[in-house]
Amino acid sequence: MIRDAAEAILKAILSEKDFLNELDEKIGDGDHGSNMAGGAQAAMEAFDALDEDANLATILRTIGEAVTANVGGTAGPLYGAALSEAAAVVDEDSELDAATLEKVFGAVVKAIQIRGNAELGEKTMLDVLIPIHEVFRAENCAGKSLEEILTQARDAARDGLEFTKTIAAKKGRAASLGKKSIGFEDPGAASALIIFRALCARWKNDLRN
Ligand code: ADP
Ligand code: MG
Repeated sequence: MIRDAAEAILKAILSEKDFLNELDEKIGDGDHGSNMAGGAQAAMEAFDALDEDANLATILRTIGEAVTANVGGTAGPLYGAALSEAAAVVDEDSELDAATLEKVFGAVVKAIQIRGNAELGEKTMLDVLIPIHEVFRAENCAGKSLEEILTQARDAARDGLEFTKTIAAKKGRAASLGKKSIGFEDPGAASALIIFRALCARWKNDLRN
């Protein structure tokens, strides 16, 4: 299941390459889809060398290394570092569950905040990733089924992307546009939503079968 979910995410990124380039065309340099697809392709190839039953830590580490080694731009190295740090916080036998996702998204958010020197509300991928992490916090998960938590997190991610339309960019290339960046979705926030939606779709399917 973990490997299938990772492959579903990588395929979603590959199929949204043009869409993400178009978003980046509007407030950046038009390469976000190509950057992400380059990383996804490299990660797919690195997967071929993995055991069928590779654990979550190994999968996160493998994708993180492939992304770091192959993806340029701003977002690639941020995602690469985030994945490598997420690999370090999960245990060898971690399963996909709300507690694991809390750790993974916590590490992802922290890594990107530190390296990007960014916070919520600056029109970056963090505007999607921070709200997802909030939903997985133990105090916010109490009494809810995994399916409810996933739906809530997916809605929070979608709202986060909508939020990026309403604010001016303060980080990255789009920051030079200032208020002119209002009205457009942030490409990195859009890729974060694509990644999370692919994970949710694959996971919910698994919960039902
Ligand atoms: P580049 O901007 O170098 O062309 P990409 O187009 O691949 O790189 O990625 C752009 C995305 O990176 C933005 O949409 C934004 O979400 C994210 N980003 C840019 N700068 C930062 C930062 N300092 N912190 C967090 N995310 C950032
Ligand atoms: Mg770009």
